[in-house]
Amino acid sequence: MTFARLPRTVVPRRYDIRIEPDLAAFTFVGEEAIEVTICETASEIVLNAADLAIRRVAIERDGRRLTGSVTLDEAAERAVLCFAEPLQPGSWRLLLQFSGVLNDKLHGFYRSTFTGGDGRQGALAVTQFEATDARRAFPCWDEPDFKAVFQLTLVVDDNLAAISNTRISEVRPIAGRAKKSMAFAPTIPMSTYLVAFVIGALEPTEPVEADGIPIRVWAVPGKSHLATFALQVAAFSLRFFQAYYGVAYPGDKLDLIAIPDFAFGAMENLGAITFRETALLVDEGSATHSEQARVAHVVAHEIAHMWFGDLVTMAWWNGLWLNEAFATFMEVLAVDAWKPAWERWDHFGVSRSAAFLTDGLQSSRPIEFDVVAPKDAEAMFDVLTYEKGGAVVRMLEQYLGSENFRAGVRRYLAAHQFANAETTDLWKAIGEACGQPIPEMMDGWIFRQGYPLVTAKTEGAGETIRFSQRAFRYLDDGGDAQANWHVPITYRARVNGEIIRGRLLLSAEDGRVHFPGRPEWVVANEGGHGFYRVRYGPELLASLLSAPGETMTPIERFNLVNDAWAETLAGTLTASAFLELAAHFTGETNRHVWTPLLASLGFLARVVPPDLRPSLERLTRARLSTAMEWLGWSPRPDDSELVRELRGEILRALGTLRDDEQVRRAARDRYALGGELNTLDPNVRAAILVIVAHTGGEIEYAEYLRRFKAAQTPQEEQRYLRALADFRSPELIRRTLELSLNGQVRTQDAPFLVRDLLMGVHSREFAWAFVKERWEQMERLYPAQSGLRRLCEGITGLVTPALEQDVRAFFARQNVAFGGKTLLQYLERLRVAVRFQEREEVSLRAYLARF
Ligand SMILES: [Zn+2]
Repeated sequence: MTFARLPRTVVPRRYDIRIEPDLAAFTFVGEEAIEVTICETASEIVLNAADLAIRRVAIERDGRRLTGSVTLDEAAERAVLCFAEPLQPGSWRLLLQFSGVLNDKLHGFYRSTFTGGDGRQGALAVTQFEATDARRAFPCWDEPDFKAVFQLTLVVDDNLAAISNTRISEVRPIAGRAKKSMAFAPTIPMSTYLVAFVIGALEPTEPVEADGIPIRVWAVPGKSHLATFALQVAAFSLRFFQAYYGVAYPGDKLDLIAIPDFAFGAMENLGAITFRETALLVDEGSATHSEQARVAHVVAHEIAHMWFGDLVTMAWWNGLWLNEAFATFMEVLAVDAWKPAWERWDHFGVSRSAAFLTDGLQSSRPIEFDVVAPKDAEAMFDVLTYEKGGAVVRMLEQYLGSENFRAGVRRYLAAHQFANAETTDLWKAIGEACGQPIPEMMDGWIFRQGYPLVTAKTEGAGETIRFSQRAFRYLDDGGDAQANWHVPITYRARVNGEIIRGRLLLSAEDGRVHFPGRPEWVVANEGGHGFYRVRYGPELLASLLSAPGETMTPIERFNLVNDAWAETLAGTLTASAFLELAAHFTGETNRHVWTPLLASLGFLARVVPPDLRPSLERLTRARLSTAMEWLGWSPRPDDSELVRELRGEILRALGTLRDDEQVRRAARDRYALGGELNTLDPNVRAAILVIVAHTGGEIEYAEYLRRFKAAQTPQEEQRYLRALADFRSPELIRRTLELSLNGQVRTQDAPFLVRDLLMGVHSREFAWAFVKERWEQMERLYPAQSGLRRLCEGITGLVTPALEQDVRAFFARQNVAFGGKTLLQYLERLRVAVRFQEREEVSLRAYLARF
């Protein structure tokens, strides 16, 4: 099979496409006229097509028409069009007729079904083209640098709505057919993967104007009242980005469309962004903080792409990371500007730890790598692209200063709008704007996998701090130890009662900073924006821990705990030393700092042998008791949203311990309130559902299942669905597993449900047996590419030597094609966990004996 790029001898300029879907038969027919430039004499034209039947082929110019024949190469997803005589260079019109099936794999041109408010079944025809699925809807040059103008016409039933990238220019009834023909205005020159069309009984909100651009949210009937929040963040983001980029919004309207079946979070089709319902529709009154924040982030992220991605596009898929990394960076910038109290940069520091986790593996990859097969491009949609990419962009912005950075971005957009660019073009533009050589600094972060562990130690009389770097790995293979990164180290110290700030670009193995006296304490990675971990020498660590709330900001405290936990997994710090360190944070009040504290306890619960669980639970309760006393069950009027969220997290952690009867009983009492449950704080309510599930039986299970099906918001639906995975009885676990395949749970959600069951201490063995048995069925049913990849993250929870062996044997037999190294990364994470279990059991046993 060859993945060579399409020949450049024929280039499309404009597509006029007419498509007519049949929402009852789940098929479609289409025809297109493509204006092409033939650059050198050719007797055949090669373009992409997959799962399509192509019926008529012709090409014409100056009133002359030649008919052609077509050969489909299904493996290469190409159509080769042959003509009887050579085509001379110049402009031609290529005419094609084709037909296809509205598939159920959530890619290409596919169907999504829903039950309307009136109880009737409805269907939508939806597109999802990134990376390489436009070819499943119409024959095209499906590579991002073949930018062209698209003019769409959709033929749909009279009573249905149709949305595409641009405004509707004309609607005409079709005589005698109860159908109408809807023509859309021509787009700007753009890539095929950004074309979108959605047809069905969708309802729009009233438009909200932002700088003259009308913004609407579309949803299936009965849900448009959940759109207010998204409209607010969309209007803010559109204005924010216009001001930041200094370039007008490149579309003529903006539609945000909620799709009931959607494989990803959202898709940045120019002017017609599609979303999974949970990422767009939300009821502010009943949603938790994180549910609201998710909507805000996804909406801002996709709108950021309208410029960075849509107006200027990567030349090839190896540049995808920059597209996503930059949108991730901009999304945080916008939401932080919108809601400063949400402390979103601190939150980003937390979410980026997922990238630290993957990038500390031997089986990690550089952010940018050669993409040959389309499957490799799919594998780019991971934490390294989004979180590590976003983090190194943020690190650069902080290092250069936000004004310099923005000036470079504006220069880049102005130079490449309506066209394509390479990663180096951005560094060049930023370098010119600030007069610094950017590639030299960035290359190590982009083209090498991994990141440094920076050690900070006192030297001499203690007035000198030595910073040194080496690669951080969970499983040290001894490789790659010599290479150095250009590490922008920022630090803050207290010396002779004064605060001193400074920075050092560490490009050698070590570097020194001399202070005018012996520092009382030193914080490295000040502000927490650097993509590196820090290890402190014993004296420096002790001085920071003496009063963590005073010496460090929340994100710095988060980094200290999170980096220490990573060293614990890597085996350079013992589990008992980590638990001692964590004991300094029992009085912690910041929500973000609690994340690694709770996550490390959750990890321990998965790996300790059953006889140690009671003492681990006693330790957990001891560590959380101060926070629980402080927070209580009921929010105070002056609680910030982050404190409210923390309350939910602490309650959930305590209430799911086996022997915390007090919290459990309180949760069950509140659950028994029935309808009044809805008057509680949403974060507390979400915690109660999880706690009750952990001890719940048949009655609660049936009730959760009923409420899942009758849910009034996408978030409520997810809460009940995901809580089904928390029930502990084997019979209920079995039923939940069945739900993942029997059609009662959408295929967009089922892989997450199975993943949760694989991660659960009580359910993992059942879930693993089920996955092995039903693997082929899952492969057939779940969304292409993304479904099994998500599910398989669950294998990192199968932490026993026997299970690990079985997992390895299973995957050695399967031909698993996720693309990239995803499966290897999961297997390595499992290895790290099992090795931890074997290494730490004795010392943990001794340590936990005190509790
Ligand atoms: Zn994106």
